[in-house]
Amino acid sequence: MGHIGIRDLEVYAYHGVYPEEREKGQNFLVSADLYLDTWEAEHRDDLDASIHYGIVCEHIKDYMLREKHMLIERAASEICENLMLDFPKLKKVCVKLYKPEAPIPMNFGTVFVEVCREWKDVYIAVGSNMGDKEGNIRSAIQMLSETRGIQVEKVSTLIQTEPYGYTDQDVFLNGCLQVKTWLPPEVLLKRMQEIELLLHRERKIHWGPRTIDLDMILYGEEVIHTKDLAVPHPDMTNRRFVLDPLDEIGGWVWHPTEHKTIHQLKEILEERGAKDYD
Ligand code: ADP
Ligand code: MG
Repeated sequence: MGHIGIRDLEVYAYHGVYPEEREKGQNFLVSADLYLDTWEAEHRDDLDASIHYGIVCEHIKDYMLREKHMLIERAASEICENLMLDFPKLKKVCVKLYKPEAPIPMNFGTVFVEVCREWKDVYIAVGSNMGDKEGNIRSAIQMLSETRGIQVEKVSTLIQTEPYGYTDQDVFLNGCLQVKTWLPPEVLLKRMQEIELLLHRERKIHWGPRTIDLDMILYGEEVIHTKDLAVPHPDMTNRRFVLDPLDEIGGWVWHPTEHKTIHQLKEILEERGAKDYD
């Protein structure tokens, strides 16, 4: 991966907690680090294969003037996220926003914040066994794709499967999605749970009937164990209704703790003679 840097771009803007900062304005400096694959640009010597840093600077100025924020944290994150959305070649962006004239009644050099955003490949399992199952799944996919910081890249075939765990319930429709997201794992989980609630999911019986279930299967190659989140999903290696659709859209993807590809895990599960669904 290559890297384009911009240092100390001057922008007169209107961010600050005090009303006079938002009225009179002050000088800000912006530094940005833009990470992208520069191999093609290096070899073709063609601007179309890269990102025009002059245009990036104009965009940064526009974002800085679009709104007045209280905090430089917020202003910096707006720059970061808008760059990620406006320049699809970017894989990661870090922005430092300096406020050398901040209202501090002491001698100081500057204050600044740094924020970063990076696209991560994430796999999400979807399932429904109540009401309009396909409609529920399609709505969840739509709601994910309308979320700032989530882009749905691939959707597997939806397959009908027998219930798992609590078996006295209707058959399921299951599938897997590949999304790219800059949301941190816990924020993504919260958004997935919000979508479950919006689609009227009620948590009554563990593994019981549900209008929609969204499970985070893999978050890049990260291994996460918190009170609310276990990734890779601990039960994914036992579930054909996860591994089959996942194999369709990402059979080569690496499981960071099993040290095997999804395709290998699927073959192992098949050999174990897991019950076939029809
Ligand atoms: P299940 O998916 O096992 O049927 P739920 O959807 O009701 O059960 O999820 C129960 C809890 O599992 C959630 O409150 C969530 O905090 C936790 N959880 C842990 N790891 C994950 C994950 N990888 N994806 C989704 N939820 C998870
Ligand atoms: Mg779940």
